[in-house]
Amino acid sequence: MNKKGHVLNGVLLAIGLGYVLEPAGDVATFRTIAMTLVPVTLGALLPDIDTEFGSHRKTLHNLLVLAVVALYPVYFDNLHYVWVGVLSHYVLDVVGSKRGIALFYPWDREFGLPVGVSTSSKYADAVTVLVTVLELAVVALFVHVVPGVLEAVVRALPYSPVEQFTTALAGWGVAPGLPAWFPV
Ligand SMILES: [Zn+2]
Repeated sequence: MNKKGHVLNGVLLAIGLGYVLEPAGDVATFRTIAMTLVPVTLGALLPDIDTEFGSHRKTLHNLLVLAVVALYPVYFDNLHYVWVGVLSHYVLDVVGSKRGIALFYPWDREFGLPVGVSTSSKYADAVTVLVTVLELAVVALFVHVVPGVLEAVVRALPYSPVEQFTTALAGWGVAPGLPAWFPV
């Protein structure tokens, strides 16, 4: 996709994230959209900086770059949500365009799916919107469906895996166990 496509992807993704994370459509929804709009859009533009240096679709289109950007909020408490835009850029290039990306750079091999259109196609924007909707569906699944299913599975087990794990750790003397408020 070209830069216009990646901006479109970032903006739509932020609006969608607002409604997936805060579905009420109230102040919290719009606050979430505002909070994610700029970082996600910047992240969506970041990989294509490698059109100017390095090798395009390689130098900044790989899992190492994604990992570095994703670790910033964890270690430095900044650049929140930028990784969402970077990941979405990769998805759009892999799924929506003909050429793949070098996910494991410096290994040069480019990975893509046998779907998608050329970045100059008149359908490029439609494909971008479609891929964004699919991305949001996956996010909604992980936010609203997966936790409930996981909880149901854990409750259905005849034993408590979390409790067994913490008991084992305590037995080895490596952890004091979980805090009292933790729902085991
Ligand atoms: Zn790209």
